[in-house]
Amino acid sequence: MTSLYSINYHTRAHKRDAFIEFIKSLLLNPFVLHTRPSFLAADSEETPEWEKKFAPATRTQKNSHCGEGEETQDENVKRYCEVLQCVEELIYDHILHQRQNLIELSRLSALVPSIGRFFTPLPLRNSFIRQDAKRAIAARRSVPPSFNDIRAVLNDAQVTAISSTVKLMTFDGDMTLYADGANFPPTSSLVRLLITLLHHGLHIAVVTAAGYPNSPAKYETRLAGLLTGFRSSSLPAAALERFYVMGGECNYLFRYDAARGHLVGVAPEVYEPEAVRRWSTDEGLIAGVLDVAEGALRAGASEMKLEGKVDVLRKGRAVGVVPKDGVRLTRETLDEFALTAQRALTSHSLAQSRSPPATTTTTSTPPPTVPFCAFNGGSDVWVDIGNKLIGVQMLQAFLGTKGWETLHVGDQFLSTGNDISTRTACCTAWVTNPEETAEILTELCSLLGAGEGGK
Ligand SMILES: [Mg+2]
Repeated sequence: MTSLYSINYHTRAHKRDAFIEFIKSLLLNPFVLHTRPSFLAADSEETPEWEKKFAPATRTQKNSHCGEGEETQDENVKRYCEVLQCVEELIYDHILHQRQNLIELSRLSALVPSIGRFFTPLPLRNSFIRQDAKRAIAARRSVPPSFNDIRAVLNDAQVTAISSTVKLMTFDGDMTLYADGANFPPTSSLVRLLITLLHHGLHIAVVTAAGYPNSPAKYETRLAGLLTGFRSSSLPAAALERFYVMGGECNYLFRYDAARGHLVGVAPEVYEPEAVRRWSTDEGLIAGVLDVAEGALRAGASEMKLEGKVDVLRKGRAVGVVPKDGVRLTRETLDEFALTAQRALTSHSLAQSRSPPATTTTTSTPPPTVPFCAFNGGSDVWVDIGNKLIGVQMLQAFLGTKGWETLHVGDQFLSTGNDISTRTACCTAWVTNPEETAEILTELCSLLGAGEGGK
């Protein structure tokens, strides 16, 4: 029987991040308990003696400034910092358990069962103080620390923690480097910031769902503003050639060629490991997965009465639902498509793994499982073959970087998003627009500059 709780959980879980919700719930305690109300003449002559006798001590003694002024605000900062210091300790304890392969025994795993891996400690306390100066979190008396406040603190802490080890940064495209469906504008402050990161010796890769097989020109169009910046920069060729584009989540790799001033394809044999080559070269297997995805998306369009309002597009490594001109799909509709496709493909791959091999020989190996990614792209829905986890892992192996040396920046970290899978491989920062990306890169470039100055 399906309980009301499980229905509510399933209808909301995909919109929430369990770790951010956990921190939010902890910060709500000081907000409720210590952000005091103002009292109206609690010790006036009208107050009966018997009431004064039992009134809370703080209410009668601190009446003049309860909940008001600088002193209370400083106290609020102190209490929020105490909470975040505890979370810092929980994270570090979790890292120590990870190292011993005892992740499920950490206290954080008990408190947030869906918690994943951490690749660095997170200095949340100091990051809160910096973000509080920008967002006035502790000064607020009516609005408690929000999802976006905590996301900003986590991003700040992650950028600070990785600044001394970072070697590779990977970026989502739409809503991370440029507006949804737009091209990289030449006027974006991200052009200068990405060039600065290359100058500091980092590798940069755009890891995007956009899939244009054997078409570097199409990626060049999307990244036109950035590539124009590269061509006019004074950076040496070796630095500029640390720039890559991984398209179709993990299906096509391109590298910037400074002599030509263009992107050039990298042959899959050069960077794809054997485990990936087993499914990436099996076009029949891939077509079977896309057939299942296409069937689920078409059925969804029919059930939601959207035929005639959307197109179902099939590409070599993807199938998607794209609204026709003038049609806008709600987030709920997009999530429904993504979750329906996820379920259909998960049951398809489970059925395949349980079915007996086609041949009777006991030595035959089962066909490889084709990884997929069904996600809400903001205005459309796509099912891609492969995912960004594989894309980032292949770049890490190709460039020789580890999880604590890699930072992925993206905007889709809910369970219907395509950036969330990278959390298994590396550190991440969750942004909602290119301006936030610029903010965290400004902070990172400043820390990298300070680090160089100290060498
Ligand atoms: Mg995006």
